[in-house]
Amino acid sequence: MKPHEPHTPPPRRPDAPRIPVPTQGPRTARPPNRGPARSGFSRGEGRGPRSSHGGGRPSHGGSAPNPRIPAPGAKFRDQSRPATTKAPDDGEPKLRFVPLGGLEEIGRNCSYYEYKNVIVIVDVGIQFPEEETPGIDYIIPNIAALEARKQDIRGIILTHGHYDHIAAIHYLVGRLGNPMIYTSQFTRAMVEKRHEEFTNAPKLRFETVTGGSKIRIGEYFNAEFLNIEHTIPEALGFVLKTPVGNMASFGDFRLDIGRDGTPKNMEKFEKLGQMGIHSLFLDSTNADYAGHGISERIVEENIEMLIKGAHGRVIIGSFSSLVDRILEILSIAERLGRKVALNGRSMKTNLEIAKNLGYFKDKKDVIIPLEEINKYKDEKIIVLTTGAQGEANAGLMRIVNGEHRLMQLKQSDTVIFSSSVIPGNERSVQTLTDNIARQVDEVYNNKLLDIHSSGHANGGDIKLVLELIKPKFVTPIHAYYYKRKHVMKLAEEVGISRDRVKMMDNGQVGLLGKDTFTVTDEKVPAFYVMVDGLGVGDVEEVVLRDRRALAQEGMVVIILTVEREKGRMLKSPDIISRGFIYLKEHHELLEEIRKRIRAIMTRVPQTQSMEIDYLKTLVRDQIGQFLYNKTRRRPMILPVIIEI
Ligand SMILES: [Zn+2]
Repeated sequence: MKPHEPHTPPPRRPDAPRIPVPTQGPRTARPPNRGPARSGFSRGEGRGPRSSHGGGRPSHGGSAPNPRIPAPGAKFRDQSRPATTKAPDDGEPKLRFVPLGGLEEIGRNCSYYEYKNVIVIVDVGIQFPEEETPGIDYIIPNIAALEARKQDIRGIILTHGHYDHIAAIHYLVGRLGNPMIYTSQFTRAMVEKRHEEFTNAPKLRFETVTGGSKIRIGEYFNAEFLNIEHTIPEALGFVLKTPVGNMASFGDFRLDIGRDGTPKNMEKFEKLGQMGIHSLFLDSTNADYAGHGISERIVEENIEMLIKGAHGRVIIGSFSSLVDRILEILSIAERLGRKVALNGRSMKTNLEIAKNLGYFKDKKDVIIPLEEINKYKDEKIIVLTTGAQGEANAGLMRIVNGEHRLMQLKQSDTVIFSSSVIPGNERSVQTLTDNIARQVDEVYNNKLLDIHSSGHANGGDIKLVLELIKPKFVTPIHAYYYKRKHVMKLAEEVGISRDRVKMMDNGQVGLLGKDTFTVTDEKVPAFYVMVDGLGVGDVEEVVLRDRRALAQEGMVVIILTVEREKGRMLKSPDIISRGFIYLKEHHELLEEIRKRIRAIMTRVPQTQSMEIDYLKTLVRDQIGQFLYNKTRRRPMILPVIIEI
């Protein structure tokens, strides 16, 4: 194995400025809603969920790392698990498993397996921005450890078409040496669609697989794919056969829950049990929810019942990434003789992909343009829209606020939220719901009725899978630590001892032998890489710190007009503040600032030409300190010096 480079910020790609930023950005195109229906608590992307920790950023340009973003796993070692150790040195070549993202946050799922310098990558997803990274479009996996190893990478497996598993590929594939991508037809179509917007990225290479496909990847690996239940067509799990054993991963998954509440189609998991699995890498998003998930069939029936009972138009707010749900709603509409108009670009795009691949044969012209809804009676119309999270610019919000070009709400409308609320979005969803309730008589959400089910297996489901597969080792992935740790309990209940559940942090290296799985002390870089507008990886901690300071404390601009020769102040300083305190109402404070500036100026040597930078520093430090003493706030101080 090769030593890894210490972390340096990835260089800005020479072609980065020319990469178009997808217009269906994070604010309009939300990946799946991913939570259990009943509690209204779900995992998701977009503005939510607020993470109190995540990847850290190294210090650059003299800026301090954000103390609110501890470096992954660095500060709080889990006391309940043994400290990491060296792998047994038994001469046996080891398989390396390295998660680069997705273990301490939601999104940027990416990991790799390596055996004797041959590498296979699994998923290359994005993470949507959080409170700690204001103004950032996306966070993508840090591939510093892989970039120098291009020649060793034999392929990328993409499990399914959600952005938190695929959407960083456009930014990174060139830097990974453009390896072969192994994935399903549907996922491929999702990737290719988005790739059209990255005109300077290399043309992607695909080998399309389906459930049952067996593919040789590189010198040491064989992958067997299996169909997995999730919320988007053609989600795949896989078993990677390696010289040390069979590694199984399902990407994001849930079980097929029957109407009676019990899981169906469990044979594939039984088969894995018979095959013998060394390690199971397990989606733990809903591990902390007891029992089994809600049956999608019940969800479908409830939605159908609501539509049947509606006297006017039905407006359904959901996620564009819940492609399976969108297709279900289209079938219901067909049965009930209603037309469906789509509102929201990502909704249309995803349906177009599904239609092209034969997922929906529009025999009765069910889909109509939104422009035409007024040609039909209200009781013949369903509008399927994005924006169920109360996103400011998404379709539903515009309709509700009366800002939509083509439609407004009517009192006779029925509005259905077929979604759950992503943590962090509670307020905006509540406001949205209130505004709808003011305008229409019927509003339904998943607290009233099961009209949404999560795409992730609940604790009870996970337990069942563990029981059927009985892997030697389990590594919980795709969730926050707390959720992943629940898997320990579940495993123990089916006889897999806690020490066989391997808790890892992003960037940690696991070494796997035939009968061993050691989480070592070795670390590869896994800090955030941020995509901001046109730049990839060019937003540093110093920029984020400024954005946070501006957001939290505001700023004060101090404009000094001085005579160049003598360093004399020519007029009383202008003081402007934004987001700090309303200075006009604080005359005393304003006067004190002016007094202090005059005092600073008397200390500037009058006999020689002035050091502008020195003066700025004095103003910044002294006025900053003064304002802190007075207000306990630290606004950004921007001295502007005009020399005449
Ligand atoms: Zn997913």
